[in-house]
This record gives sequence, structure tokens and C-alpha cells, in this order.
Amino acid sequence: MKAIRTLPTLATVVAVGVGAAAPAAAAPGLEVPPVSPQAAAAGFVDVRTVVPDAVIDLRYATANNFVGVPLYPADARCLVHNSMAPGLAKAADDLRAQGDVLVFWDCYRPHDVQVRMFDAVPNPAWVAKPGPYARSHEAGRSVDVTIAERGRLVDMGTDFDDFSARAQAYATDGVSAVAQANRERLRAAMGAGGLAVYSGEWWHFDGPGAGVQRPILDVPVD
Ligand SMILES: [Zn+2]
Repeated sequence: MKAIRTLPTLATVVAVGVGAAAPAAAAPGLEVPPVSPQAAAAGFVDVRTVVPDAVIDLRYATANNFVGVPLYPADARCLVHNSMAPGLAKAADDLRAQGDVLVFWDCYRPHDVQVRMFDAVPNPAWVAKPGPYARSHEAGRSVDVTIAERGRLVDMGTDFDDFSARAQAYATDGVSAVAQANRERLRAAMGAGGLAVYSGEWWHFDGPGAGVQRPILDVPVD
């Protein structure tokens, strides 16, 4: 990343589980460096310019993900297509009114990373099969998010990328009433911003046009 000024490094979370401490959000007032020319040309924005209090915990920039190795550079950032910006701002506003903040686990995902993920888990129910086009995360039009409340992740019943039936957005078996209510709270806030949950994963939300097949992008994630 060619940063104009260096942002503080977020604390690396070794294991983010239920009730785990969320990494701190960036200090307010810090300028977000401009995105790369390729990202700007693709209509991408850094989500911190849309949700200033967002907690950015890109799990694929760490080894704490289902592949077990970092797939992004350590200074990767959360890029989203600008069509998601109003919805994310609205969702964050609604959550902020409840004392909560959005935590971003994944945003724009380069095509080559999607290929590596599918090689690791070649099950299209859990990992989107890479195609000759970009959609969803590969188009910057989907995000993986959860909620932090007073600096702690709320109980959603599973961790990120939990490839079990309990990860389904509306699962009830093995998911506590508290976790079900928290998932509903997240869906309500995101839904107010026009962002729709993927029924297969409580953390995955699609923005407008996420399902449309578009040309594969060559945008760096940092
Ligand atoms: Zn996702």
C-alpha cells in the first residue's frame, strides 16, 4: 500500500471466537489514504471512508482463516464498490444507535484468492466456485461482517467460515436464542441499508447487483 501516512496497525487477533475481544477500530480523525488507481477505476472505496468507526479484521490477511495461511498482504484493506456505500453507512448508523459497530471480516476479494480458496475447499455450498467472471466479493459487492458491542464480538453462534449447518443464517439447531437474536439484529441493520443476507452464511451480505457477472478485475487488495 502506498500510504500517504501510516495508519496504526490493528491488533492481530489470534483467535476470534464467540465473545472474543474485537480489534480496536482505527482512531477517529485519521485520514484514510486514497485507494490505488486500479481500485479507483473499479469504483472501489475504502470502507473506512464510509463507516469511520468500522473495525477492520480481514481474516484472510492473517493465518486465522480456513486455509490456514495469509491470502492477502498484511496491509490489505477493506475495499467495496461504491454502490454498497450508502447501505453500509445506513447499517452502521442503525447499529451505532444501539452502541454497536460493524466488524468487517472480508470485502473485495481478488480472483486469484478465490481460486486458492476453492482449491482448499472445493465445495460450492461453502466457497464460491471461481468462474470466468467476477461477482459477489470478487466484484467488491459483498461483505462478510459481524457486530462488536463495547469492544467484544457478540455471540453469533459460530465463528467466521464455520462450514457447518449452524452457520446458515436462519439455523436454529445448535444455535442459542441469543445468537439467533443477534443474527436477526445484524440482518435488520444491514437490511435497512438494502443489503441482503446469504441464507447459507449468517455473516455474508450482498449489495445491489452482487449476483451480476462482470469482467474479472485486476485490482490489488492493498
Ligand atoms: Zn462472503
